[in-house]
Amino acid sequence: MSRTVVVTGSTSGIGLGIARAFAAEGCHVVINGFGRPDEIEAARREMEVLGGGRVIYHAADMTKPDEIADLIGTAKETFGSVDVLVNNAGIQHVAKIEDFPLEKWDQIIAINLTSSFHTMRAAIPLMKEKGKGRIINVASAHALTASPFKSAYVAAKHGILGLTKTAALELAEFGITVNAICPGYVLTPLVEKQIPDTARERGISEEQVKTDVMLRLQATKEFVSIEEVAATAVFLASDAARQITGTHISIDGGWTAQ
Ligand code: NAD
Repeated sequence: MSRTVVVTGSTSGIGLGIARAFAAEGCHVVINGFGRPDEIEAARREMEVLGGGRVIYHAADMTKPDEIADLIGTAKETFGSVDVLVNNAGIQHVAKIEDFPLEKWDQIIAINLTSSFHTMRAAIPLMKEKGKGRIINVASAHALTASPFKSAYVAAKHGILGLTKTAALELAEFGITVNAICPGYVLTPLVEKQIPDTARERGISEEQVKTDVMLRLQATKEFVSIEEVAATAVFLASDAARQITGTHISIDGGWTAQ
C-alpha cells in the first residue's frame, strides 16, 4: 500500500524537491505552501505522473494552528493516515538584532519552529494508531552553528533540533522515528532573496556574499543540491533507517566540521 507523505512548504525549493522524490517512490503526497495557483497545479500534476500515487494540495498557512490541524486532518480524510511528515516550511530575514522587525521575529519563530509542533501534535496520534511513522524536520547548519544577522532563524533552527530530540524520545517505543536534516547553503529562492540584504549588512558585493560568506565555510566550495537533501529525506523514511532517531544528518559540504 502506498505511504502518505505530508511536506510543508513544498511549492518551492527543497520542499518541492522532497515532495517530488516521495512522489517518484509511488507515495501519496500532500503538498503545501504559497505560490501562483497555476504553477502549484502544474507541479501537482507533474508529481502524480512520477510514481502513480495521488498528490493533493493544501493551502494551510504555517502561522495558523487551525489551518495546520486541517492540513493533517485532510491527509487523514483523503488517504487514511500520515506515514511520513516532513516539516520543511521556512523563511529567512537578515538584519541586526537591534534593527530586526518584531513581526519578522514572530513570523520566523512561528513558521520555522512552532508550525512543526502543530503538525506533529496532529499527526502523532495517527502514527501511534498505525504503530509506525517517520517525522523529518528540515533544520539547517544553522541548527548547529550561528551566523550574524540571522537571530530569529538561528534561534528557530536550534529550537527545532531540541524538538526533534524530545519527540524522538517520546515516540521511540511506538515505531516512530524523528530526525532532522541540516543542509548547508542550497541555491533556492530563500537563499537568493537574502543575498542583497547580506551584501548591504556586510558592505560587500552580492558575488562576494556567495563566495566569501556562503561558501567560505562550506569546505567543498559548492552549494548543496535540492536532490541531495531530498534523497536524505527518502532514506530517513526507509526501513533501513529504523534505528536512526533523535539525531540529525548534516549535508553541508563540511561546514560544521570546522
Ligand atoms: P523556499 O523559499 O524555496 O521555500 C519555502 C517554502 O515554504 C515555499 O513553498 C513557501 O511557499 C513555503 N512557506 C513560506 N511561508 C509559509 C507559510 N506561512 N505557510 C506555508 N508555507 C510557507 O526555501 P527553501 O530554501 O527551499 O527552504 C526550505 C527549508 O529548508 C526551510 O525550512 C529552510 O530554512 C531550510 N533550509 C534551507 C537552506 C538553503 O540554503 N536554501 C539551507 C538549510 C535549510
